[in-house]
Amino acid sequence: MKAGVIAVQGAVPEHLNMLRTTMEKLGIQGQAVPVRSKRELEVVDYLIIPGGESTTISRLLKRFGLSERIVELGNRGLPIMGTCAGCILLAKEGDEEVAKTGTELLHLMDFAVKRNAFGRQRESFEVPIDVKGLKDKFPAVFIRAPAISRTWGKCERLAEYEGRTVMAKQGNILALTFHPELSGDAGIHEMFLQMR
Ligand code: GLN
Repeated sequence: MKAGVIAVQGAVPEHLNMLRTTMEKLGIQGQAVPVRSKRELEVVDYLIIPGGESTTISRLLKRFGLSERIVELGNRGLPIMGTCAGCILLAKEGDEEVAKTGTELLHLMDFAVKRNAFGRQRESFEVPIDVKGLKDKFPAVFIRAPAISRTWGKCERLAEYEGRTVMAKQGNILALTFHPELSGDAGIHEMFLQMR
């Protein structure tokens, strides 16, 4: 089994580490690998689109010819998890900021996203939140985090914070506005690696 992390910009090593820890914990024989090319994308059984800067990641995905194939694979059932900037890219609809920066979304999930939704004074913070499907509260690290402002269709809301949706699932795809790779709790990566 191979779990890939899109490695063009952003929080890549943290996700690779958390994937390795989680595989060990679940007794899964597998590898966690960075994905920068079409060839690397073809061989993964799971794919994470990490946090970072969504405009930059969207440009690089396009430049490396990865965007279209990610969409095809996602529509065919490849488990994908987008965190923070990665969550923004999974959205069907963006906000003014997405439009202004020409950020190209992948449109894989039925939700609208608002970038930097938690305000400047609170650039980053950690808070325990309830996540549908997890027994214990999850320590969610928010860093200049977006919010899921509206969901429709087949998109299911899994977590809220301060009245805003911060995690959603649509079939084989998970979107989180926080960073599950940074808090030392493998709960969300476990949920993800059990999605096949
Ligand atoms: N604010 C960033 C963006 O809009 C996302 C921040 C993150 O991924 N930690 O792309």
